[in-house]
Amino acid sequence: MDPERPQAAGTLRPDPAGSSGQPMSPDDRLATLIRASQERLVDELTSDLWGFDGPWLRRTYPNEPSLRLFVEGFVDALQRSFTAADGTQFVNEYGVSLGRRYAEEAQDYDDVYNSLIVMKNSLLRFVLKKDPPIEPLILRLTDVLFRLEHEVARRYYEVEKTQHAQFAELDILKSGFMRLTTHELRRPLSIFKGYVSMIESGELGEVPAEVHKAILRIAVSANEMAKLIDDLAAVGRLEEPDKVLRRERYPVDQLIKDAVDVVRAEALAKKISIIERIDPSRSTIQVDIDRMRVALQNLLSNAVKYSPPESSVEVRVEPQRGALTIVVEDQGYGIPAEEIPHIFDKYYRGVTPETQKMPGTGLGLYIVKQIAELHGGRVEVVSDPGKGSTFRLRLEA
Ligand code: ADP
Repeated sequence: MDPERPQAAGTLRPDPAGSSGQPMSPDDRLATLIRASQERLVDELTSDLWGFDGPWLRRTYPNEPSLRLFVEGFVDALQRSFTAADGTQFVNEYGVSLGRRYAEEAQDYDDVYNSLIVMKNSLLRFVLKKDPPIEPLILRLTDVLFRLEHEVARRYYEVEKTQHAQFAELDILKSGFMRLTTHELRRPLSIFKGYVSMIESGELGEVPAEVHKAILRIAVSANEMAKLIDDLAAVGRLEEPDKVLRRERYPVDQLIKDAVDVVRAEALAKKISIIERIDPSRSTIQVDIDRMRVALQNLLSNAVKYSPPESSVEVRVEPQRGALTIVVEDQGYGIPAEEIPHIFDKYYRGVTPETQKMPGTGLGLYIVKQIAELHGGRVEVVSDPGKGSTFRLRLEA
């Protein structure tokens, strides 16, 4: 604030007699009153009303110090945000010509206001004189801010739109690539698994015990690879823009059998028994069967993977009215309480030594959760470290 400038409270109080001693006309008195209240308003405003929030400008009415800060900041922002990237055109339009315009208009207030505001790009110097009708000036600056904000918003929008389009295109390419590769990988793998299962079952002749053990290991590895392919394909499908569910009515016991079949080799290799307690009412469920199979396979495969040898895993159905819960319960290592909030995150892998030594991508439970939610259901877990975990897949029937 200019020290020479008379204090608002002292000078702006309306003087009914007028400074010349002559009685003021009612119109003059009214005009003085209005001006006094406007100026008091401006003077009473705090000085930090202009804010730069990243490239965004926050706007409100400034008083004198904040006006100075604003103009400096304004030019700064112009230089920072626009000069380098946009050349001179924008600055000319919003900076230079604006500054010139204000500079010219500000000349009219010579006698009154002695604040000098130096615009930092040194092209724009102008003097704001004492006691100007500050309102129009503020309005004009505000107008510029509106335009500036609008321009910034428009540019952000343009950039976002372009990036969005590029990402969408990349996503489509990525999904197509995933579909193609996962499909191509599945084909040779299924032939491979077919022969392994024929050898293992003795269909191709008697198999010595040692060979049988080796075949079991091969089967486990083939299943691991198949699960990896399924998970990648599931994630790819989950991230496609239109996640259409192909719901069909399917027997729950069949769904469970399908999933158990996939983890049977791992269970056998660890001598883990899988107990299937199938709903005696043989209920059916309306789901996207391919996706739901992947979800259940993941729960079962985790139960086997994170359990010690010779334990057991139970899978059962708890029917409710209009809903159905598939429960997978193991007697495994369990999950520490502090990890529970993270286990459904994409790529999250447990940090306990038992988890770390097992292979995994951290995609399994993420997929289960996404698939459950896509069906309007949810997945829940209760775990007791050292004793085991129970996962519940709650679905509409
Ligand atoms: P991955 O098994 O590939 O690590 P998941 O997303 O399937 O990834 O599981 C995330 C984490 O949750 C695992 O790394 C493990 O720590 C924990 N977890 C999942 N299922 C079980 C389970 N049945 N018993 C113990 N820990 C489990």
